[in-house]
Amino acid sequence: MSVVGIIPAGGSGERLGADRPKAFVVCAGRPLVEWSVDVLASVCDRVVVAGPAGHLGEGWVEGGPSRSASVRNALAAAPEATKVVVHDAARPLVTEALVRECLAALLGVDGVVAAAPVSDTIKEAYPDGTVVRTLDRSRLWAVQTPQVFRADALRRALDVDDAVLAAATDDASLVEAAGGSVRVVEAPAENIKVTTAADLARVEAALC
Ligand code: C5P
Repeated sequence: MSVVGIIPAGGSGERLGADRPKAFVVCAGRPLVEWSVDVLASVCDRVVVAGPAGHLGEGWVEGGPSRSASVRNALAAAPEATKVVVHDAARPLVTEALVRECLAALLGVDGVVAAAPVSDTIKEAYPDGTVVRTLDRSRLWAVQTPQVFRADALRRALDVDDAVLAAATDDASLVEAAGGSVRVVEAPAENIKVTTAADLARVEAALC
């Protein structure tokens, strides 16, 4: 039994407008990625970070052309894994408790994802703005990371063409597409993702 933490940190983070990849932007005194490394290291047997070429720390692997390709590269470096915790470097407010809750829920399913119930009404629309339909909000979740998986199910799910990986916005959707079962666990509201400079300021305030 080996639980391996995987942190995809190979993105450029252009929307943040920083002078370096997002995972290396200094947040509350240290590179953004380090907050997540610490939390995963306290729960997992080992942590593998997939970073951008030219920014690889010790024990890191090179990220791929897409987020899920980065996860696949990291997983290839962890053949001992029986369970995997995938967590984005862009969510530094993750807690040990949330990771443990997701792992505890990994019973009889292939994956568990942290998620928030949707509070807005969600409509599907055509590119010209015409509404196709309104979805039933009571069943909708905004999905985040951590996402935990049985390692064999994740390996199978990631064994697809690069184009399929590039189209995926999370790893759980690939596990679902491969026939796997996934459930949601409610995440605390603080587990936000750093995308813009305003997000970074919010996260920094919470960490200080
Ligand atoms: O860009 P976005 O915030 O959606 O990226 C989510 C996570 O995936 C980030 O931590 C980013 O560094 C990572 N990523 C990656 N490899 C890529 C693209 C994004 O590891 N090619």
